[in-house]
Amino acid sequence: MSAPARPPVIARLAPSPTGVLHLGNARTFLWAWLSARAQGGKMILRIEDLETRARPGVTEQMLDDLLWLGLDWDEGPAWPDEAAHGASVHGASPHAPYVQSQRGAYYRAVHEQLRAKNLIYPCVCTRADIAAAQSAPHEGDAAENEPRYPGTCRDRFASYEEACRAAAPGKKPCWRLRTEPGEVVFEDRCFGVQRIDVHASVGDFVVAKEPDVPAYQLAVVADDIAMGVTEVVRGDDLIPSTARQILLYRALGAELPAYGHAPLVVGPDGKRLAKRHGDARLHSFRAAGVSAERIVGVLARWSGLNAPGPASARDLVAHWSWETLARERIVLTPERLREVDAK
Ligand code: GLU
Repeated sequence: MSAPARPPVIARLAPSPTGVLHLGNARTFLWAWLSARAQGGKMILRIEDLETRARPGVTEQMLDDLLWLGLDWDEGPAWPDEAAHGASVHGASPHAPYVQSQRGAYYRAVHEQLRAKNLIYPCVCTRADIAAAQSAPHEGDAAENEPRYPGTCRDRFASYEEACRAAAPGKKPCWRLRTEPGEVVFEDRCFGVQRIDVHASVGDFVVAKEPDVPAYQLAVVADDIAMGVTEVVRGDDLIPSTARQILLYRALGAELPAYGHAPLVVGPDGKRLAKRHGDARLHSFRAAGVSAERIVGVLARWSGLNAPGPASARDLVAHWSWETLARERIVLTPERLREVDAK
């Protein structure tokens, strides 16, 4: 008897149009792409513009930079410049739309599912209310600047309408997920077993501002389930979010994807890349005549991949292995920036 066929790998590139592609997010996208392609997987492109409405041209520039680097996709939004890139980069569109701000009707249905099971509840607390309810600084692993929600509105309102009446003038209630005490445990392909107690760290977290406007946590889970995503590769700053998202998968009764978090590229001050760390934007390197192969080769070297020199993303597929990857964050020193620039 032959071995059962393994389910196909479906991965995604999910850029937020917050700015242009730089060496940091490019390296994370390279990991996501290589992992998918090394398994013969399919790549979906999704634009995550719920929290940041894109300024004109930003999304196009990001997609153009991704394609220039050699990171393509099989499914995604219609792409105006497609002809310029030869083969179709968006192929079929069975899960359209691929832009989150256009997926409101779908989110509303997911919201309804959670509400019908009484797994979410409306909350009228303001930031000031939550801060005032903190008796002492929280010592758990709460994300930076995110106080634990004490559960004030958990069993407070009999209906959404009642919550609306209790909300501050001009404000609408948001929606929170009921969390239970205990650790969420998951295996990360890069960092191994992770244990995070969501209930103790952030408590019942916000999943939606309105039924068709989910917060990041729910939008990503709803979309990954709808698009059949089996593998999520993204920056290590999202590890705490993964635990929250796993609770949402459970609430929706869906199967979890595999997770791999890529260590971020940070500035010498340890903070995520910003202008003050020097110009690490891909389009600046492009304009200066640096080749995509040069950048991909450097990103591969910073990842612990066996790429002695310039390489195309395709070339690296054969060298990809989660086992040998660098597990430390990369500090973008001026020397490292010059490494990219040396043509
Ligand atoms: N849109 C997010 C970002 O650009 C990634 C979210 C995810 O991969 O789940 O950082």
